[in-house]
Amino acid sequence: MSIVDTPERRQLRELTRSFVTREVLPHLADWERAGEVPRELHATAAKIGLLGIGFPESVGGSGGDLLDSILVTEEIIRSGGSSGLIAALFTHGIALPHMVAAAGGQSGGLLRGRLGGGQLRGDDDLVDRYVRPTLAGTMIGALAITEPDGGSDVAAIRTTARRDGDHYVVNGSKTYITSGVRADFVTTAVCTDFPGSGELSVLVIDKGTPGFTVGRRLEKLGWHCSDTAELSFVDVRVPVTNRIGEENTGFLAIMQHFAAERLSLATQAYATAQRCVELATRWCRDRATFGRPLASRQLVRHRLAEMHTRAEAARAYVHEVAARVAAGEPVVTEVAMAKNVAVAACDQVVDQALQLHGGFGYLRDAEVERHYRDARILGIGGGTTEIMNEIIAKGMGL
Ligand SMILES: Cc1cc2nc3c(=O)[nH]c(=O)nc-3n(C[C@H](O)[C@H](O)[C@H](O)COP(=O)(O)OP(=O)(O)OC[C@H]3O[C@@H](n4cnc5c(N)ncnc54)[C@H](O)[C@@H]3O)c2cc1C
Repeated sequence: MSIVDTPERRQLRELTRSFVTREVLPHLADWERAGEVPRELHATAAKIGLLGIGFPESVGGSGGDLLDSILVTEEIIRSGGSSGLIAALFTHGIALPHMVAAAGGQSGGLLRGRLGGGQLRGDDDLVDRYVRPTLAGTMIGALAITEPDGGSDVAAIRTTARRDGDHYVVNGSKTYITSGVRADFVTTAVCTDFPGSGELSVLVIDKGTPGFTVGRRLEKLGWHCSDTAELSFVDVRVPVTNRIGEENTGFLAIMQHFAAERLSLATQAYATAQRCVELATRWCRDRATFGRPLASRQLVRHRLAEMHTRAEAARAYVHEVAARVAAGEPVVTEVAMAKNVAVAACDQVVDQALQLHGGFGYLRDAEVERHYRDARILGIGGGTTEIMNEIIAKGMGL
């Protein structure tokens, strides 16, 4: 039995599937055209407990652990949703964990084992002001790390926060920020020493704070239903009470929470591959050329078999690494390998799936076309394939 195949998780899978069927599929094409998902979707997902999966009940979440979060992500995509939808609806998965961890809850269900209880401490105020309303679907948060000068080298962040009494004065800019257009607050990585020093802190910055402007909505190859923005900070005064954790501990916090983001992206990758295998298999059964169904030809059958194998192997490896993360093992290298394995499987499978659809695969009407475009970001976001290879090489002692 698969580790995500328990009776409770089968129920969670069913809940997720019916949410997608009822609340997402009838509207997804409209949201892709609109460039964002509606705020009401967050409230609807919160009401049935989906938004809070992986977050402790003590901060307003639904409980559950990393594997539950993975299961929800997987099922959303396999039910006909998309990685773009995950990015838009579950941005809190990257925007909130730092706050939850600083308050003493285990972060986002994504770094450590089972959640649910846990006394909070310290940054409870941030939990009340941001975490609870976001998990209730009434607020939207974003995470801003990447800057126009570069995203891979996090230590080189140049957005500064200079202390001035009870405030920080923030100057700089961020780019490619998921949900940045809609976000009510932004969990923002800033440099609390001289620019490029690597001394980072994390501040929560409210939309509407004077000097904080949300720039243009960025147009993208894929993830069309997920809004992406540039952000600018000019002498933005942020209360010191909006700092997450201690000053100059941001780099470590950001690195720790990258593990969760990377496993989520790995899940999106293998689930997209699985969905594309299903779509291609259905297509090849129905589509006849030269008087016979495509699926009757050995070349096509073997291609589908290879696609299926790659997707399932990636899924098994991601689950294994996720289970080790959930057990508290330090598996930074394995998380990087899981992301690269799943992304490589996804890239190959979506390409083959589109090819098997022929000309129809190139049309907006084809679901596989959306997955083909959406998949391309998975090897870039949350640390690129090359940066994952750097981590893996270090883990090998190179
Ligand atoms: C749709 C979308 C959504 C995003 N959402 C967010 C978000 O919500 N929040 C956020 O903070 N960021 C977000 N990002 C940014 C994303 O995390 C970065 O794009 C990514 O980390 C890469 O950074 P970069 O684009 O600056 O590329 P660069 O760091 O400039 O890298 C460019 C290329 O050089 C390679 N490279 C870099 N260094 C090395 C090296 N040492 N050795 C070998 N190769 C190297 C990279 O792998 C890449 O191929 C998003 C990006 C996109 C496109």
